[in-house]
Amino acid sequence: MKLVLATRNLGKVRELMDMLKSRCPQICSLQGFPDAPEVEEDGETYAENACKKATAIADYTGHLALADDAGLEVVALNGAPGVHSKRWAGEDATDEMRIAKLLAALEGNPNRDARFVAAVAIAKPNPLNVGRGKPVPRQAARFVGRGPVPRHADSTQVVIGVCEGHITLSPAGKGGFGYDPVFIPTGYDKTFAELGEECKNLISHRAKALELAIPLLELLLSR
Ligand code: IMP
Repeated sequence: MKLVLATRNLGKVRELMDMLKSRCPQICSLQGFPDAPEVEEDGETYAENACKKATAIADYTGHLALADDAGLEVVALNGAPGVHSKRWAGEDATDEMRIAKLLAALEGNPNRDARFVAAVAIAKPNPLNVGRGKPVPRQAARFVGRGPVPRHADSTQVVIGVCEGHITLSPAGKGGFGYDPVFIPTGYDKTFAELGEECKNLISHRAKALELAIPLLELLLSR
């Protein structure tokens, strides 16, 4: 069985591939599935959106699927943009527009504390749904914390990773994507965009969630 990354965000594909390819060589992107469904991210939580994307792609492709949903939570903005991070500055906004809106919202505010949160969902294809348009309901997702992987882990699983930090006064750096040029992780003095992917992939919210997900992935892919 392959592991399909259920995202068309090239920044995420690059990061996820880098973090997973040595542990899960069966990994592939959605590139080989040009007609895969677009999944609307209309959930109220990162976990809900990640599950929705992973189950849709697992059922479409017939392979194990991994999806993530992430966002930036700013303390002074009561957790915004949060789960709406992508559409916060409008449906067709660019990363530059999102960053400009964020910096304007924080102008003059000394509290720049923020965190990135990522939910990573892993879904097995439901044999009843593969190749069909209308999925039958699935068992509700279960959350995996630290600790042993459940022996019969066969429904959709979700793990959460968090990276604390703060928002800069202006963008810096050319790496990464999204809000990376304005986010400095705690313990560092450079933005994610300046630190580069190698460093970001060791400490990011996505890296932390994947750390929890990898034992389960290895178990499922070895069956
Ligand atoms: P998505 O819905 O998970 O694709 O992510 C929502 C939005 O959050 C993205 O469009 C980015 O703006 C932002 N985002 C998510 N993860 C990251 C990250 O690792 N760095 C910077 N921005 C991110």
